Amino acid sequence: MSVITGLETADLRFPTSRELDGSDAMNPEPDYSTAYVVVRTDAGDGHEGHGFVFTIGRGNDVVRAALDALRPHLAGQQVEPLLADMGGTWRALVHDSQLRWLGPEKGVMHMAIGAVITALWDLKAKRAGQPLWRLLASMTPEELVDLVDFRYLTDALTREEALAILREAEPGRAAREAELLRSGYPAYTTTPGWLGYDDEKLARLCREAVAEGFGQVKLKVGADLAEDLRRLRIAREAVGPGIGIAVDANQRWDVAEAIEWVRALAAEGELAWVEEPTSPDDVLGHAAIAEGIAPTPVATGEHGQNRVLFKQFLQARGLSVLQLDATRVASVNENLAILLLAAKFGVRVCPHAGGVGLCEAVQHLSMLDYVAVSGTTEGRVIEYVDHLHEHFVTPTEVAGGRYRAPLAPGAGTEILAGTRADYSFPDGPVWREQPGSGGAGASA
Ligand SMILES: [Mg+2]
Repeated sequence: MSVITGLETADLRFPTSRELDGSDAMNPEPDYSTAYVVVRTDAGDGHEGHGFVFTIGRGNDVVRAALDALRPHLAGQQVEPLLADMGGTWRALVHDSQLRWLGPEKGVMHMAIGAVITALWDLKAKRAGQPLWRLLASMTPEELVDLVDFRYLTDALTREEALAILREAEPGRAAREAELLRSGYPAYTTTPGWLGYDDEKLARLCREAVAEGFGQVKLKVGADLAEDLRRLRIAREAVGPGIGIAVDANQRWDVAEAIEWVRALAAEGELAWVEEPTSPDDVLGHAAIAEGIAPTPVATGEHGQNRVLFKQFLQARGLSVLQLDATRVASVNENLAILLLAAKFGVRVCPHAGGVGLCEAVQHLSMLDYVAVSGTTEGRVIEYVDHLHEHFVTPTEVAGGRYRAPLAPGAGTEILAGTRADYSFPDGPVWREQPGSGGAGASA
């Protein structure tokens, strides 16, 4: 038996706003950040669990404070029972009656609980000597459904239905795992499309994306229609025919405006999807937009706060591309519920990634989905952005437009110790040497 000896937290920020990487219509100058947590034990095996919440700068300290608030729930606890029953561990944290008041099951505390659960998954996978996707994909259907909290889902998905989905996928697991190891998982790239890039950089990055093997790129839109149309033409000319172009409004529009704007964009040529056209909470608004812009697909989910909201989106046909996120909901357990909902409704899952560490984390969920849940990659792509991977112990590998299946033990969530020292906010060398970007007093 071993015991959790400490929960170390950190506020890590990367000054991405200096180059306008990540700039879009709602987030003009993000500093990609992680509220970071390390779970340490006295096992003496050298393994630590690492997890994080992705944010875009200011407020990262608030998430860190939420992580600190979870310390008494874990410090001193025996590790093995926690890891042996990850469904029970999830429920104990998510349903803590006093913490629950802060959500329920949404927002800062929910995301912080997700990071701690991810750290435990990372530790469990490291102890098992397996990459997280493979650890999960080797669990039995019964073990997998035990991870899921079906509370509030049973009008759309029961435990028995989830078991049936997983059992149906079981016979093909070995063949799909072999295929995944051989060919990887399809990706698309948002690297060219940030709103702050000039025309020359947009065209160059679009050409490079095609040369690198990506079959789809994504452009940020929503600030100015004439500009969007112009940038769309530049991108189309650069990528040529046969490459998908998706657009992402990052919640910029009201419902009627979204319909009008997307119709104008779609008149330029087919769009792979329109992403986050309006408030991420507006289920019926998305359903109205989906009807108004058909056949252009509506994509959303990176700000989807919990499994209940995804259930409603699916019930109301408010999305046809589901974009789950590794750190927005409460970790693997809740994302497994979302994958099962998507499988039940026959909706494709194309996860949100980019930021810092989201590619590293979310690939495990798509790979689990392919091997053991939906059993397909048809119409599915994981977002890829070529930023900040060098800060991870096991960085994502993308080649030929596909994610290579990670083989290193763990959840992919561990940031290098040197990076954690350098980018610590506000006292790390990166922030001490170049003050003025980010920070509490910086631009509104
Ligand atoms: Mg997006």
